[in-house]
Amino acid sequence: MQHHFIANQARATESGRTIPVIDPSDGQPFDELQRGDAADIDSAVRAARQCYEGVWSRLNAAERGRLLMRLSEKIAAHADELAALEQRDCGKPTKQARADALALVRYFEFYAGACDKLHGETLPYLDGYSVLTWREPHGVTGHIIPWNYPMQIFGRSVGGALAAGNVCVVKPSEDACLSLIRVAQLAAEAGFPAGAINIVTGYGHEVGDALARHHGIDHISFTGSPSVGTLIQQVAAQRHCPVTLELGGKSPQIIFEDADLDAALPMVINAIVQNAGQTCSAGSRLLVQQPIYEALLDRLGGMFANLRVGPAAMDLDVGPLIRASQQQRVWDFLSDAQVANIAMVAQGQVVDEAPETGFYQAPTLLRDVPVDHRLAQEEVFGPVLAAMSFRDEDDAVRLANATQFGLVAGIWTRDGGRQLRMAKRVKSGQVFINNYGAGGGVELPFGGVKSSGYGREKGFEALYGFTTLKTVAIKHS
Ligand code: NAD
Repeated sequence: MQHHFIANQARATESGRTIPVIDPSDGQPFDELQRGDAADIDSAVRAARQCYEGVWSRLNAAERGRLLMRLSEKIAAHADELAALEQRDCGKPTKQARADALALVRYFEFYAGACDKLHGETLPYLDGYSVLTWREPHGVTGHIIPWNYPMQIFGRSVGGALAAGNVCVVKPSEDACLSLIRVAQLAAEAGFPAGAINIVTGYGHEVGDALARHHGIDHISFTGSPSVGTLIQQVAAQRHCPVTLELGGKSPQIIFEDADLDAALPMVINAIVQNAGQTCSAGSRLLVQQPIYEALLDRLGGMFANLRVGPAAMDLDVGPLIRASQQQRVWDFLSDAQVANIAMVAQGQVVDEAPETGFYQAPTLLRDVPVDHRLAQEEVFGPVLAAMSFRDEDDAVRLANATQFGLVAGIWTRDGGRQLRMAKRVKSGQVFINNYGAGGGVELPFGGVKSSGYGREKGFEALYGFTTLKTVAIKHS
C-alpha cells in the first residue's frame, strides 16, 4: 500500500479510499494508492508553508544547492530501484525507464549548481538613486504531473522550483506515481526538511482541483493535456495565481530532399515510438519533400515492420500503452483512418509473449494524411505516424504550422541557409536541426507556443518562471 508523503511522513487519507495500481504490461492490479482529497492537499500546503517560513528561509542558496546535489546522488544510488518502479507503473521498456531515472539525476545535479547563480540586476535611474532587482521565490508551488514521464517531469519542475527557493506540493498522476513517492522519501533521507517536498496522490478532479484552488499555493506548474490545462488556467485566474502550462503537441519532422536519411530515419522512428508514442514532443507528423517521398516511405515502412512490441520487462522497441482507455483512443484514431481511406504503409508486431490483457499497440505508419484530418491535427498519444508530402519551403512551413500546437519541430536538411530560414518560420518552442532531442535536454529551455502552453521549464530559463522580480529603488540621503 502506498501513502501520501507529507512533512516527511507517510500519511493515509482519512476516508480510507484507495485507487488500484495497474501494470500496463498485463492489465493486472499490483498495489494501491491513497485516493486523496482536499483535506490532504490542505495539510500538505500547511506543512509546506511552515517549512518555507521556517527552516527553509534560513538556508542560503549554496546550502540549498548542496541539498539538491545530495538528492541527485541519492537518486543515482537508487536509479535501478526507481527505474524498476517506473517500468512496472508505466510499462516502460528497461532502457527507457533507466534513461528516465538518469535524467532525474541530471535535473537535480543541474539545478543544484544553478541555486547560487540566480541574481537580480542594478538599473540606471534618476540622479541620486540606486535601483536593484531581486529574484524572489513564489513561496509554495504546486506541481501537477502526468503519467507519461513522472520522473523527468518531477525533475524539471520540482528541481527548478526548489532551486529558485520554493517549497513544493506535488500531485502526480493517478496512473503513475510510485517512483515519485520513493523520490520524496529519498529527499527526506538526503536531508530535505519536513514540508519541502510533499506528495499527495489521487484523482485529478479531486486532488488536482483542490491543489489548483488552494489559496496557499502561490504558483502552479501544470503538465498535461490541453483540456485540463484550460481548467487549471480558469481556476487559477480566479485568484490571479501564476501558472506555467506544459501541454500537448503534434510536432512535425520535416525532411528535405538533401537530408542525411541514414541519420534522420532512426530518429524519426525513435521520436514516435519512444514511450509507445505517449510523449508530448512525439514527432507524430512526417513531412517529406516530394522527390524523395515514395522512396523514404518504402524504407521507413521496412523499419516500422521490424519494430517489436511487448511487455516492459522484455525491453523491446515498444512497451504497452498506459491503460485500456488509451488503447481504445488509439484504436478510434486508426478506425477513423480506415473510414477516410488513409493508407497504412506498415505496422510493427506485438510479440506472442505479450499477455492479451496488456495494453499493446503496434507502431503504425500512415501515408497521405490530409492536413485537416484529425490524425494530422490531434494528439493520438500512441505510436502512430502521419506522413504527408510537401513541395518546397513555403509548403513545408504551411503544413508545419497548420495545427493548434507548437511544441517541437525537427528539420532535416544539409542546406545551412534553409536550416535557419525554417527554424525562424516554424512556430514552436523548440527546433531541432538534423537531430531530435537527443540527450534529454536538461539544459535546454522547453515549452510551447499556441495550445502547447506557455512558460518554460528545463535549463536556467525555468528559474525565471519559478521566481518573481522585486524592484527596490533607493534614494541616496
Ligand atoms: P491529463 O491532463 O489528463 O492529466 C495530467 C495531470 O492533471 C494528472 O495528474 C491528472 O490527475 C491531473 N488532472 C486531471 N484533471 C484535473 C483537474 N480537473 N484539475 C486538476 N488536475 C487534474 O494528462 P495525461 O493524460 O496525464 O498526460 C497526457 C497529456 O500531457 C498529453 O496531452 C501530453 O502532451 C501532455 N504532456 C505535456 C508535456 C509537456 O511538457 N508539454 C509533457 C508530458 C505530457
